[in-house]
Amino acid sequence: MITTTAPKILALDFDGVICNGLKEYFQTTLRTYQKIWSDHSQNNLQTWADSFYQLRPVIETGWEMPILLRALVLEYDKDNIESNWHQICSEIVEKENLNKQQVMSELDGVRDHWIKSDLDNWLALHEFYPGVLEKLGQLLDSSPLLYIVTTKEGRFVKQLLKQQNLSFPEGHIFGKEVKQPKYETLRQILKDNQESPNNLWFIEDLLKTLKTVQTQSDLREVKLFLADWGYNTSKTHEIVKEDNTISLLSLEKFSQDFSQWIHF
Ligand SMILES: [Mg+2]
Repeated sequence: MITTTAPKILALDFDGVICNGLKEYFQTTLRTYQKIWSDHSQNNLQTWADSFYQLRPVIETGWEMPILLRALVLEYDKDNIESNWHQICSEIVEKENLNKQQVMSELDGVRDHWIKSDLDNWLALHEFYPGVLEKLGQLLDSSPLLYIVTTKEGRFVKQLLKQQNLSFPEGHIFGKEVKQPKYETLRQILKDNQESPNNLWFIEDLLKTLKTVQTQSDLREVKLFLADWGYNTSKTHEIVKEDNTISLLSLEKFSQDFSQWIHF
């Protein structure tokens, strides 16, 4: 496979690559928890914050977050949570007679209400990873074309970047509102720019998402990077190190030239 040493198009995920949303996740989770269970006060629940941050990579969909906090409250062993999350999650859902859809709608409701009632306070819970904004600023002033492909609402991404004085070109932020899988968005970006897949590089922190891009035969040449600073574990890093179709990227390398991103 021919790999270019610089992309013509660089697409980035937002949460876990550009922005650290762990505080927001936890605070939204904590409020949702209290709607489902009334056994602990906010202050009390706050003590599980660090364990929650540490274990956040096990979460695949938002509704699992309150269940993760429940697992911590119920004193499930942290190593066990990391290795057997899906099993533990179903166990709690079953034992406590919960409904996935209901938990999800409680969580969405909490978040929507918060955004509507105190947007600034909600936005302030988002932090940017060190050096990332500077790098994006440099890249926006030069080539390649930059895109954000995220499952967060695009308007919030725009607002968060605007607060940091970064503005992406119109139409370069694809959020939740496009209602299509990320690989479909990547395909659309290539089509819009009439570029071939090997000129597109994509950075993401969820291995599963990179894997679904790989299953698309027309996107096989897209260069894939797993951001090791995002919501993933050292176990995932080991898997990626063995996989020569995905490159493991560190924050330090991200700040350097594209030629440093891949080892041949
Ligand atoms: Mg992400």
